[in-house]
Amino acid sequence: MSEVTPVRLIMFTSEDCVYCPPVESIVKEVVGSGMQDLVHVLTIDVDDDPEAEKQYNINALPTLVIDDETVLEGGMDDDSVREILWSTLLNKAVTSEEAVEVTKSSLLALTINAMGSLNGTRQLRTAVGDFTHIGIFQLNLLSLYSLDPLIPHLLYKAGQQLGLYGMMHHVLTLLNPKLGQTPRRDLKFKHLAYSLELYFSDRETLPTMLAESAQVVGITNQMIKLRVNDMASASLRVNVGEPMCGFFAGQLAGVTQAIMGTPSNCVETMCMANGSEYCLFVIRTGMDLKERSLPPLEDKIERATRRQNFYEVIHETTELINDSLLMRKIQRPEIGDFMHISVFQPIIISLKLLDRFSSIILYSGGRELGVFGPGKPLLYRLVQQAGIDVPMQLEEGVHLLHQYMTHPTTMLYRDQGLIRLAMKDYNTFVLEIEENASVAGLNTSNIGATFCDFLAGFFAGRLHILIGLDPIVQETQCQGMGAPFCTFEISVSEEDYFD
Ligand SMILES: [Zn+2]
Ligand SMILES: [Zn+2]
Repeated sequence: MSEVTPVRLIMFTSEDCVYCPPVESIVKEVVGSGMQDLVHVLTIDVDDDPEAEKQYNINALPTLVIDDETVLEGGMDDDSVREILWSTLLNKAVTSEEAVEVTKSSLLALTINAMGSLNGTRQLRTAVGDFTHIGIFQLNLLSLYSLDPLIPHLLYKAGQQLGLYGMMHHVLTLLNPKLGQTPRRDLKFKHLAYSLELYFSDRETLPTMLAESAQVVGITNQMIKLRVNDMASASLRVNVGEPMCGFFAGQLAGVTQAIMGTPSNCVETMCMANGSEYCLFVIRTGMDLKERSLPPLEDKIERATRRQNFYEVIHETTELINDSLLMRKIQRPEIGDFMHISVFQPIIISLKLLDRFSSIILYSGGRELGVFGPGKPLLYRLVQQAGIDVPMQLEEGVHLLHQYMTHPTTMLYRDQGLIRLAMKDYNTFVLEIEENASVAGLNTSNIGATFCDFLAGFFAGRLHILIGLDPIVQETQCQGMGAPFCTFEISVSEEDYFD
């Protein structure tokens, strides 16, 4: 996606503007978080350039103009500025036509694979099977959520893409053929509601095990209230403090828009991850509907507090996931705690296709989980057995990481297949992974990027514990791009070694 035309952001300031410096530093922060190649920033001092001031009709300072659209006039609190920037820039990034085309074809390929696997005609992972433990999914979501309060918005966007361009509307029609047959708008909407019930309850046609069941609990001509039980993303029953199913809310909005042809949105008003007995999605559609805006950030817990909260949740979660893995107590008694990898794959892929800076988010999320996530007792046990002191050399660390990844306890998640360790040169080690859940069966060489940034980040985090340094972990080949396996090169920069 390197040929995407950069977005033009102009910031109007002046020397005596008191509100300008804080806004400017947020612009730098947001653009600097990996969007440098996508956003071209220009600062204009109105005292130096009265022509531009007139041309853009500047009434207040600072003013931010993104691609000729004024998005901010005058000073505002930091979080609101951040919110405006992120949402505008993300929207710009995803509406680039090229990105949409690639998204469509990749998601299509993905769904065809998934359907083949679900109806039993094709197995995507011959060694470990096509179902993976929901614990890994929950941990991935939690570590992504912990990074920034805007991640839920990003996931919503990614889900919306999937709903719009993926195959979900075909699946819904497959489950309820009447949906495709009626031209009458009001009837179509009713059939959509019924299809959604089937989508989350189905055990025959495409049993993804995404949720246990669903019921429509309210419906008008423009609104559906859908109750979903034991959703994979939220069935932990740990109170996270916010809903965790934003991706699926986005997907419901996208698919409603694809089917009804009018702007649609969806808000998860109750969530099992937020203390409720079930998840409740309110879907709305209609010409007069505005794009769903972000939840106000002022109401959110402060960033640091929120992050701390997520660490605690991840900690609490660990125990519950272990209970499920060891069959002491499973989370979803009706359907069990494994779900089809096709539930997970489009999240990574649509995030990745949304924009290249999502690589950074995924890597950071993985690293968080590597440093703070479960499995550390096992890791320390392996260290003890090896009789090596922490911090250790990279070579020893990588060997232990390999042992950890191939340990029967880790394998219970069924997240990866065969894992091999090799050496490239004296300072570079290579981990090769077959059948990684997030990409197995996928082959979208046309996006020209690897997919497994989260796993790369996870390795970096786990190694950080062992070697006390931040190693460089780079995925050089990915099964998602048609390679026979994912290849991760691991090294430590020379400087770090001698510091
Ligand atoms: Zn939920
Ligand atoms: Zn990969």
